[in-house]
Amino acid sequence: MIPKALSAILPLVLGCALAGAQTPSGEPLRPQWCRELPRPEYAKLERADVNDDWFEVYRIRPGVFAIYEPHQFEEVISYLILGSKRALLFDTGLGIGKISDITASLTKLPITVLNSHTHFDHTGGNAEFSDILDEDTPFTRTNEKGQSNIYSRDALAPDRICGHLPPGVQPNSYSIRPFHVAHRVTDGEHIQLGNRELEIIFTPGHTPDSLCLLDRKNGLLFTGDTFYPGPIYLFTPETDFDAYTKSVARLAKLAPKLKLLLPAHNVPVAAPDYLDRLEKAVAQVRSGAVQPVVTEGRREFSFQGFSLLLAIN
Ligand SMILES: [Zn+2]
Repeated sequence: MIPKALSAILPLVLGCALAGAQTPSGEPLRPQWCRELPRPEYAKLERADVNDDWFEVYRIRPGVFAIYEPHQFEEVISYLILGSKRALLFDTGLGIGKISDITASLTKLPITVLNSHTHFDHTGGNAEFSDILDEDTPFTRTNEKGQSNIYSRDALAPDRICGHLPPGVQPNSYSIRPFHVAHRVTDGEHIQLGNRELEIIFTPGHTPDSLCLLDRKNGLLFTGDTFYPGPIYLFTPETDFDAYTKSVARLAKLAPKLKLLLPAHNVPVAAPDYLDRLEKAVAQVRSGAVQPVVTEGRREFSFQGFSLLLAIN
């Protein structure tokens, strides 16, 4: 859901309350997380030339683009994956910038959307598209109706924005628009894009409708929020840690055949051996072999390159 520990921004919340959203010179505040960008991994990536102030696009592999949102705290990453006949957009981001303008500039192919899960930060642009694939869970069906209220206030709070919002975007009117799912996918389903085949792997846990996307021929695994390098959020009511454990074990079995993980937050490239380490980390949490740090009502279990954030029982 959200990729950083709240401790990264909490001092800023107080600062913003005192100072407002702008410095005295009229410049937007730059929260600490924002001042630490860009992350060093981006220096090695090939940036694609798109004319947009909100999104940055990186060419990760031939026909695979990461569409990154560095101006919001969650640093969401959606992926456009091209075949010869169709393109697949894996997630649509926060819905703050207009992602369909970006995808239209990158391909003329018809675009099908598939969500890694239906948290608001991955479905924000869904309403801009008509061909949408998703799972059929009660959680999914609830989120298809759109989301507003508390999410919007949090996501666009001054301490969560790095720089300016796009013209016309107002925090108090921001919401996730409803969208229509054209097709319900099943576990193991294959998607043919023409010269590229993608395989859907259900990985419930983070949410009931979490899934990963495998490009077996090219050794690419798009991991959604099941894995990203950062604090992995596993404390919300929709998280099922038992299901997550099974899903991680399933992914770890794939690791020897993979060349690259493409996560949905922070950085679009991660080594496949993270999956083995994630499986071991989950086992250590379950056995009590590792102790958490308790902050802000959560237990954080830290490992090299990532942590697991669980609720306090
Ligand atoms: Zn999520």
